[in-house]
Amino acid sequence: MSFKISCQGATSITSFVDFLWHKLTPAVSDTIWEKMIIKITGDMRVTCPAFNGNRANLEKHILISLAEEENFDNYWQYIHDPESFFRTYTEKHIKMYCSGKGGEKIKTFFKICLDDIKNAILSATHESTAVAKDTSSTASEWLDLFCDYLGNKLIFPRRDLISIEHQEIKDMEFLKEAMSTALDPAMKKVEQNFSSRNIDEMFPEIGKILSKHLCGCWKQCPFCKAICTNTIPKHDGDHSVPFHRPRAVNGSNWYRTDHFVIDCCSSLVASDRLFALTDDCNIPYKNYRKAGRNFATWNITPDSSTQPYWKWFVCHFRTKLEEKYQLKFANRGQIPDEWAKITKQYVLDELKKQ
Ligand SMILES: [Zn+2]
Ligand SMILES: [Zn+2]
Repeated sequence: MSFKISCQGATSITSFVDFLWHKLTPAVSDTIWEKMIIKITGDMRVTCPAFNGNRANLEKHILISLAEEENFDNYWQYIHDPESFFRTYTEKHIKMYCSGKGGEKIKTFFKICLDDIKNAILSATHESTAVAKDTSSTASEWLDLFCDYLGNKLIFPRRDLISIEHQEIKDMEFLKEAMSTALDPAMKKVEQNFSSRNIDEMFPEIGKILSKHLCGCWKQCPFCKAICTNTIPKHDGDHSVPFHRPRAVNGSNWYRTDHFVIDCCSSLVASDRLFALTDDCNIPYKNYRKAGRNFATWNITPDSSTQPYWKWFVCHFRTKLEEKYQLKFANRGQIPDEWAKITKQYVLDELKKQ
């Protein structure tokens, strides 16, 4: 938009101020939007237990909610595409936060952000006018001072103002008054802009910041699909996870049978059993690293204990697992009787203790 200086004096200052606010108002709206995203994310990280720790903590909450919901399709997504499941879970929680008790907080955050910016503009106007008055500055110098005083409180490109910087400003006091008078109506406009925008537009940004805090390695155990718990993506050294799962979770079967493998990879690597890499290549679990890259980069510590969680899962969803993988819990893949005694309450309590 071009700006023409048509007259001098008061009219000229008024049009200078009009132009300036024409540029300031959208910048205020954008700045508040950005600040709100940071405030909401920060509050979610404090008030939502799933997001107030590292990814291991988030995963614990995910396992709890999966068990509470007992929805097999959700488990399926979590097992086979954990990254997308984590994303969906996070989005759901952002939505819940914003529509629930976070809704009232959002209004308060907005008021705080708006007041902060309003005060910043007001004091930048006063400070820059005071300095400019003493040094009989030009419009360009006043604008420099004004932008300097605003500093990083407002994302506002000074270059947007070059079309008015050559204007002559004789009455600095009038400029200050005109700026201050325009402040309240401008803030009203910002408020209207905000209430007409859909808060959902913030969700992807909030999600991005949350996942940055909860980042980590996404590699899954080649035997059981448990997710590596290293908090650094592309970390050095081997992938590892403290608890592996019964291989049936991942749909593994004993060689040339349709029987599930219900053993955990951590106990298999301590056994003399073999696994089939291809039809004519069987490798002892003990030497799993020899099976190639996906296997060689994992450190699977021999351990005979299994978390009750996945035993409960296998029992609870046995029919679904059989249907989905077209395999049976039979013979060597028969589910031990003790597994059936594990209750959901017990596995939830165990998880919550962690
Ligand atoms: Zn495993
Ligand atoms: Zn890893």
